Amino acid sequence: MTRKALFLDRDGVVNVDIGYLHTSRECVFNDDIFELVSAANRAGYAVVLVTNQAGIGRGYFTVDQFQALSAWMLGEFENRHARIDRVYYCPHHPEFGLGEYKQACNCRKPQPGMFEQARVELDLDMEGSLMIGDKPSDLHAAQRAGVAHRFLLAAAGEHDLEMSGSLGTRIDRLTELLDWFGHDSLRESRCQSDAAKQVTSDVISAARP
Ligand SMILES: [Mg+2]
Ligand SMILES: [Zn+2]
Repeated sequence: MTRKALFLDRDGVVNVDIGYLHTSRECVFNDDIFELVSAANRAGYAVVLVTNQAGIGRGYFTVDQFQALSAWMLGEFENRHARIDRVYYCPHHPEFGLGEYKQACNCRKPQPGMFEQARVELDLDMEGSLMIGDKPSDLHAAQRAGVAHRFLLAAAGEHDLEMSGSLGTRIDRLTELLDWFGHDSLRESRCQSDAAKQVTSDVISAARP
């Protein structure tokens, strides 16, 4: 069954972006993220993280550290009755990646690879899906993958020069999108509950050798 998705960037949307976050001790969640994800869950949306993690390629932290932090974060969501269904990450960097991580891949945003992998694996309806990022490159990636609704979580004035109206809509707070999941949520959660059961929380690399 084709599902809609709420795509989320991680650093700057799910948590405060401190630069190369890799320990739970340093993780501060953004206000309202749990409420928003919970609303998306109830409305039957798949919730998918798509995150550039060049810190892996640069050698700042390991895949294992990233996976451990992701598992911890997913648990924090579960504790608050919210569920992130999948995590896709890009470990590459075209210039500063070490060894195999140095490549101009198709998964690093603004390339659309992570979105496209999610579309295939989760059978997603991109026209009905939305993406929230904190950089224009997040929205460019979503646009290239056909995600119809795109939002930039950023202070007024920030990124104004890089943002055309067709790229997306700027929002100040995540709560501005709660209404998105308010309509018909009961009906949708009923007819999509079977599909929801089959989706397990999992962490998947978008990296393809
Ligand atoms: Mg970000
Ligand atoms: Zn990549």
